[in-house]
Amino acid sequence: MIHKSKLRSENRGIGMTSQGTRDRLVQTLRKEGIKDERVLKAITQVPRHEFVDEALSSRAYENTALPIGLSQTISQPWIVARMTEALLDNGNPKKVLEVGTGSGYQAAVLSHLVPKVFTVERIDELLKLARRRFHRLRLHNIYVRYADGHLGWPSQAPFDGIMVTAAAQSVPRELLEQLAVGGLLVLPLEKNGQQRLISIRRTEDDFEELDLGGVVFVPLLSGLA
Ligand code: SAH
Repeated sequence: MIHKSKLRSENRGIGMTSQGTRDRLVQTLRKEGIKDERVLKAITQVPRHEFVDEALSSRAYENTALPIGLSQTISQPWIVARMTEALLDNGNPKKVLEVGTGSGYQAAVLSHLVPKVFTVERIDELLKLARRRFHRLRLHNIYVRYADGHLGWPSQAPFDGIMVTAAAQSVPRELLEQLAVGGLLVLPLEKNGQQRLISIRRTEDDFEELDLGGVVFVPLLSGLA
Protein backbone atom coordinates (compact mmCIF):
# COMPACT_ATOMS: atom_id res chain seq x y z
CA MET A 1 0.00 0.00 0.00
CA ILE A 2 1.27 3.47 -0.84
CA HIS A 3 1.16 5.80 2.11
CA LYS A 4 -0.98 8.87 1.39
CA SER A 5 1.69 11.43 2.30
CA LYS A 6 4.21 9.56 0.11
CA LEU A 7 1.80 9.70 -2.80
CA ARG A 8 1.38 13.42 -2.24
CA SER A 9 5.11 14.12 -2.28
CA GLU A 10 5.58 11.91 -5.35
CA ASN A 11 2.86 13.85 -7.14
CA ARG A 12 4.62 17.02 -6.18
CA GLY A 13 7.90 15.60 -7.42
CA ILE A 14 6.66 15.59 -11.00
CA GLY A 15 4.32 18.55 -10.75
CA MET A 16 4.44 22.31 -10.74
CA THR A 17 5.90 22.42 -7.25
CA SER A 18 8.91 20.16 -7.80
CA GLN A 19 12.57 20.96 -7.19
CA GLY A 20 13.03 21.32 -10.96
CA THR A 21 10.40 24.06 -11.06
CA ARG A 22 12.16 25.82 -8.18
CA ASP A 23 15.51 25.55 -9.98
CA ARG A 24 13.97 27.18 -13.07
CA LEU A 25 12.80 30.08 -10.93
CA VAL A 26 16.36 30.52 -9.69
CA GLN A 27 17.63 30.57 -13.30
CA THR A 28 15.14 33.35 -14.03
CA LEU A 29 16.29 35.32 -10.97
CA ARG A 30 19.93 34.92 -12.02
CA LYS A 31 19.08 36.18 -15.51
CA GLU A 32 17.29 39.16 -13.96
CA GLY A 33 20.36 40.27 -12.08
CA ILE A 34 20.39 38.46 -8.71
CA LYS A 35 24.04 37.65 -8.06
CA ASP A 36 24.40 36.56 -4.44
CA GLU A 37 24.68 32.76 -4.61
CA ARG A 38 23.74 32.48 -0.92
CA VAL A 39 20.39 34.10 -1.69
CA LEU A 40 19.76 31.93 -4.77
CA LYS A 41 20.51 28.82 -2.72
CA ALA A 42 18.09 29.89 0.01
CA ILE A 43 15.37 30.37 -2.63
CA THR A 44 15.86 26.78 -3.82
CA GLN A 45 15.53 25.63 -0.20
CA VAL A 46 12.15 27.23 0.51
CA PRO A 47 8.97 25.61 -0.88
CA ARG A 48 7.07 28.76 -1.91
CA HIS A 49 3.95 26.69 -2.68
CA GLU A 50 3.60 26.08 1.08
CA PHE A 51 3.13 29.84 1.57
CA VAL A 52 0.14 30.34 -0.75
CA ASP A 53 -3.35 28.91 -0.85
CA GLU A 54 -3.46 25.41 -2.33
CA ALA A 55 -5.52 26.71 -5.28
CA LEU A 56 -2.54 28.89 -6.27
CA SER A 57 0.24 26.37 -5.64
CA SER A 58 0.73 25.62 -9.35
CA ARG A 59 1.66 29.29 -9.80
CA ALA A 60 3.95 29.48 -6.77
CA TYR A 61 7.18 29.35 -8.78
CA GLU A 62 6.22 32.01 -11.28
CA ASN A 63 8.10 35.24 -10.76
CA THR A 64 4.94 37.10 -9.66
CA ALA A 65 3.31 38.42 -6.51
CA LEU A 66 0.24 36.40 -5.46
CA PRO A 67 -2.72 37.17 -3.16
CA ILE A 68 -2.58 35.73 0.38
CA GLY A 69 -5.96 37.04 1.54
CA LEU A 70 -6.95 40.11 3.60
CA SER A 71 -5.88 42.36 0.70
CA GLN A 72 -2.23 41.36 1.15
CA THR A 73 0.25 39.71 -1.22
CA ILE A 74 3.28 37.44 -1.07
CA SER A 75 6.00 39.47 -2.80
CA GLN A 76 7.37 38.57 -6.20
CA PRO A 77 10.36 36.18 -5.83
CA TRP A 78 12.62 38.67 -7.60
CA ILE A 79 11.91 41.38 -5.03
CA VAL A 80 12.37 38.89 -2.15
CA ALA A 81 15.76 37.97 -3.64
CA ARG A 82 16.73 41.60 -4.29
CA MET A 83 15.83 42.77 -0.78
CA THR A 84 17.59 39.80 0.80
CA GLU A 85 20.67 40.51 -1.30
CA ALA A 86 20.58 44.16 -0.19
CA LEU A 87 20.22 43.14 3.47
CA LEU A 88 23.25 40.81 3.28
CA ASP A 89 25.36 43.52 1.72
CA ASN A 90 27.12 44.17 5.02
CA GLY A 91 28.45 40.63 5.25
CA ASN A 92 26.87 38.14 7.61
CA PRO A 93 24.11 39.59 9.76
CA LYS A 94 23.46 37.48 12.87
CA LYS A 95 20.14 38.92 13.88
CA VAL A 96 17.56 40.53 11.60
CA LEU A 97 14.06 41.96 11.90
CA GLU A 98 11.40 41.79 9.21
CA VAL A 99 8.37 44.10 9.36
CA GLY A 100 5.34 42.58 7.59
CA THR A 101 5.41 38.78 8.01
CA GLY A 102 2.53 38.27 5.54
CA SER A 103 2.70 34.67 4.33
CA GLY A 104 6.05 34.14 6.07
CA TYR A 105 7.92 33.41 2.83
CA GLN A 106 10.47 36.22 3.15
CA ALA A 107 11.18 35.24 6.76
CA ALA A 108 11.62 31.61 5.67
CA VAL A 109 14.18 32.66 3.04
CA LEU A 110 16.02 34.72 5.67
CA SER A 111 15.97 31.82 8.14
CA HIS A 112 18.32 29.90 5.82
CA LEU A 113 20.80 32.78 5.80
CA VAL A 114 20.71 34.37 9.24
CA PRO A 115 20.95 32.65 12.67
CA LYS A 116 18.02 34.58 14.18
CA VAL A 117 15.05 36.07 12.32
CA PHE A 118 12.48 38.22 14.12
CA THR A 119 9.30 39.14 12.24
CA VAL A 120 6.30 41.28 13.16
CA GLU A 121 2.84 41.45 11.58
CA ARG A 122 -0.24 43.60 12.32
CA ILE A 123 -2.84 41.11 10.98
CA ASP A 124 -3.28 38.33 13.51
CA GLU A 125 -4.92 35.94 11.05
CA LEU A 126 -1.92 36.07 8.68
CA LEU A 127 0.51 35.68 11.56
CA LYS A 128 -1.25 32.52 12.79
CA LEU A 129 -0.97 30.94 9.34
CA ALA A 130 2.69 31.96 9.00
CA ARG A 131 3.51 30.57 12.44
CA ARG A 132 1.95 27.24 11.46
CA ARG A 133 4.07 27.14 8.29
CA PHE A 134 7.30 27.83 10.21
CA HIS A 135 6.44 25.01 12.58
CA ARG A 136 5.60 22.56 9.79
CA LEU A 137 8.84 23.38 7.93
CA ARG A 138 10.82 23.22 11.21
CA LEU A 139 12.10 26.76 10.87
CA HIS A 140 12.84 27.12 14.55
CA ASN A 141 15.03 30.21 14.26
CA ILE A 142 12.09 32.49 13.35
CA TYR A 143 10.47 34.46 16.19
CA VAL A 144 7.11 36.09 15.52
CA ARG A 145 5.26 38.96 17.16
CA TYR A 146 1.82 40.48 16.69
CA ALA A 147 2.57 44.20 16.69
CA ASP A 148 2.71 47.41 14.71
CA GLY A 149 6.06 47.16 12.98
CA HIS A 150 6.61 50.92 13.06
CA LEU A 151 7.78 50.28 16.62
CA GLY A 152 10.20 47.51 15.68
CA TRP A 153 11.00 45.00 18.45
CA PRO A 154 12.75 47.08 21.13
CA SER A 155 13.58 44.26 23.55
CA GLN A 156 15.52 42.39 20.84
CA ALA A 157 17.38 45.41 19.42
CA PRO A 158 19.93 46.13 18.07
CA PHE A 159 19.57 44.32 14.75
CA ASP A 160 22.27 43.83 12.12
CA GLY A 161 19.58 44.20 9.49
CA ILE A 162 15.95 45.35 9.30
CA MET A 163 13.72 44.76 6.30
CA VAL A 164 10.31 46.33 5.81
CA THR A 165 8.07 44.56 3.29
CA ALA A 166 5.36 47.22 3.02
CA ALA A 167 5.75 50.77 1.70
CA ALA A 168 6.34 53.46 4.33
CA GLN A 169 5.50 57.18 3.98
CA SER A 170 8.64 58.07 5.89
CA VAL A 171 11.46 56.16 7.56
CA PRO A 172 10.22 55.02 11.01
CA ARG A 173 12.56 56.58 13.58
CA GLU A 174 12.28 53.58 15.92
CA LEU A 175 13.65 51.30 13.21
CA LEU A 176 16.68 53.53 12.69
CA GLU A 177 17.26 53.52 16.44
CA GLN A 178 17.12 49.73 16.59
CA LEU A 179 19.81 49.32 13.94
CA ALA A 180 23.30 48.26 15.05
CA VAL A 181 26.26 50.36 13.87
CA GLY A 182 27.17 48.93 10.44
CA GLY A 183 23.64 47.54 10.11
CA LEU A 184 21.29 48.04 7.16
CA LEU A 185 17.64 49.04 6.94
CA VAL A 186 16.05 48.04 3.63
CA LEU A 187 12.59 49.43 2.93
CA PRO A 188 10.22 50.62 0.19
CA LEU A 189 9.59 54.32 0.66
CA GLU A 190 7.00 56.66 -0.89
CA LYS A 191 8.76 59.53 -2.64
CA ASN A 192 6.89 62.02 -4.83
CA GLY A 193 4.04 59.57 -5.42
CA GLN A 194 6.46 56.77 -6.36
CA GLN A 195 7.80 53.88 -4.32
CA ARG A 196 11.58 53.49 -4.21
CA LEU A 197 13.54 50.68 -2.59
CA ILE A 198 15.94 52.35 -0.15
CA SER A 199 18.87 50.93 1.76
CA ILE A 200 20.11 52.89 4.81
CA ARG A 201 23.40 52.03 6.49
CA ARG A 202 24.07 53.14 10.05
CA THR A 203 27.63 54.40 10.48
CA GLU A 204 29.33 55.46 13.73
CA ASP A 205 27.74 58.91 13.64
CA ASP A 206 25.41 59.04 10.64
CA PHE A 207 23.06 57.23 8.23
CA GLU A 208 23.94 56.70 4.55
CA GLU A 209 21.11 56.25 2.06
CA LEU A 210 21.18 54.36 -1.22
CA ASP A 211 18.36 54.24 -3.83
CA LEU A 212 17.98 50.72 -5.30
CA GLY A 213 15.19 51.52 -7.80
CA GLY A 214 11.42 51.59 -8.24
CA VAL A 215 9.18 49.00 -6.56
CA VAL A 216 5.49 48.26 -5.86
CA PHE A 217 4.35 47.27 -2.36
CA VAL A 218 1.16 47.30 -0.27
CA PRO A 219 1.21 50.19 2.24
CA LEU A 220 2.71 50.04 5.72
CA LEU A 221 -0.31 50.75 7.95
CA SER A 222 -0.53 51.89 11.55
CA GLY A 223 -2.06 50.00 14.46
CA LEU A 224 -3.26 46.41 14.75
CA ALA A 225 -5.91 44.60 12.68
N1 SAH B 1 6.92 39.60 3.62
C1 SAH B 1 5.64 39.09 3.19
C2 SAH B 1 4.94 40.03 2.22
C3 SAH B 1 4.13 40.89 2.99
S1 SAH B 1 2.96 41.97 2.28
C4 SAH B 1 5.74 37.72 2.56
O1 SAH B 1 6.86 37.23 2.39
O2 SAH B 1 4.71 37.14 2.29
C5 SAH B 1 3.09 43.21 3.57
C6 SAH B 1 2.67 42.77 4.95
O3 SAH B 1 2.96 43.86 5.81
C7 SAH B 1 1.19 42.48 5.09
O4 SAH B 1 0.99 41.22 5.66
C8 SAH B 1 0.69 43.59 6.02
O5 SAH B 1 -0.34 43.20 6.88
C9 SAH B 1 1.96 43.91 6.80
N2 SAH B 1 1.99 45.21 7.42
C10 SAH B 1 1.56 46.41 6.93
N3 SAH B 1 1.76 47.41 7.83
C11 SAH B 1 2.35 46.82 8.93
C12 SAH B 1 2.80 47.30 10.19
N4 SAH B 1 2.71 48.58 10.54
N5 SAH B 1 3.35 46.42 11.05
C13 SAH B 1 3.46 45.11 10.74
N6 SAH B 1 3.05 44.58 9.55
C14 SAH B 1 2.50 45.42 8.66
